[in-house]
Amino acid sequence: MQFAILNEGSNGETRVALVPDSIKMLLKQKHSVLAQSGAGVAASVPDAAFEAAGARVLSSAAEILAAADCLLKIRPVTAADAKSIPEGKALIGFLAPLRNPEVVKILAERRVISFSLDAIPRITRAQSMDTLSSMATIAGYKAVLLAASHLPKFLPMLTTAAGTIRPAQALILGAGVAGLQAIATSRRLGAVVEAFDVRPAVKEQVKSLGATFVEIPVTENLEDKGGYAKQASAETLAQQQQLLHERAKLADFIISTAQVPGKPAPRLITKAMVADMKTGSVIVDLAAESGGNCELTQADQIVRFNGVTILGPVNLPATLPLDASRMLGRNLATFILEITNDAGFTMDWKNEIFAQTCITLDGRANANRRAA
Ligand code: NAD
Repeated sequence: MQFAILNEGSNGETRVALVPDSIKMLLKQKHSVLAQSGAGVAASVPDAAFEAAGARVLSSAAEILAAADCLLKIRPVTAADAKSIPEGKALIGFLAPLRNPEVVKILAERRVISFSLDAIPRITRAQSMDTLSSMATIAGYKAVLLAASHLPKFLPMLTTAAGTIRPAQALILGAGVAGLQAIATSRRLGAVVEAFDVRPAVKEQVKSLGATFVEIPVTENLEDKGGYAKQASAETLAQQQQLLHERAKLADFIISTAQVPGKPAPRLITKAMVADMKTGSVIVDLAAESGGNCELTQADQIVRFNGVTILGPVNLPATLPLDASRMLGRNLATFILEITNDAGFTMDWKNEIFAQTCITLDGRANANRRAA
């Protein structure tokens, strides 16, 4: 099959779907790759590097759309994107199908066979294809660097001729992929770290990274069968806020990563809590796109309240474009090899990865999806 990577820079994107190493993985399996000119420039991958890896570089999106069998897209797929895809082509991208029924409808009407990367099951066999984990790793790392660059103080303890500097105190909320990376990065930079999550299973992971687990008695079972968090009741959230209030007063920076799939982010940091935080402290809210863990967060804005800086970045992976593209490329190439063979897509409905990620085919939504 002929796969195509697009130049998505006009949307502020810096990442690219494939890099030379992942292109070579596809070529080895007799696929071919087209790249839109300039697609990798912001990720430090010039057209010449695509060509040297064996891809064909074409100058316009129109040429790519006409020639490719399957388009690879990094930015969330919008209704306008879906309408621009020629009938009968294939698409692999981030569709968030439950949140975007309109996009699914358009793709079905256009008889596009589409696959959503955010639907890859979180199973061991699919770990090497898990783009959500790759991007969450970058977000967790970058969130700490962002906090450090906005803090008016050092992170590590320093003993200097000018006196001893105390280490910064970090509070990490949510210890999934991004939260665990934020803990590890904060520790590497010398901060003292506390972390909290509603899933008791993460307590040992938090401790093994050298952080203290904040014990908040949670009476509900808030972990679903897939290992994700469930939505906490209003009562549990109020209890969490009360206990986190005390921890927030001590923190120099908070990285909040708490998410519940398909639901608004849990509100863990109230305005009253921010009002009681130290002057100069920083909150980086990685849940900004789904409403924010902090009441004052505004997506992609810097909010200042009572001496506290609150950041709500929504696309941190795009601030580390080379490694983000390397990780995405490896995830994507592994995924493509999983769902294709010499004849095209495998149509193997017994394969959970295929059945769960295929969103539209033959002019309709994939009926095998939820049943699988
Ligand atoms: P996520 O982004 O959905 O959520 C981030 C964290 O927020 C989670 O740890 C969640 O428990 C926590 N959270 C939710 N509500 C909260 C609240 N009220 N207070 C505090 N914390 C709250 O999660 P994720 O990082 O995508 O990972 C979800 C799970 O999937 C984890 O168990 C992870 O280890 C697992 N996982 C498995 C695989 C695999 O096996 N292939 C890959 C990646 C992730």
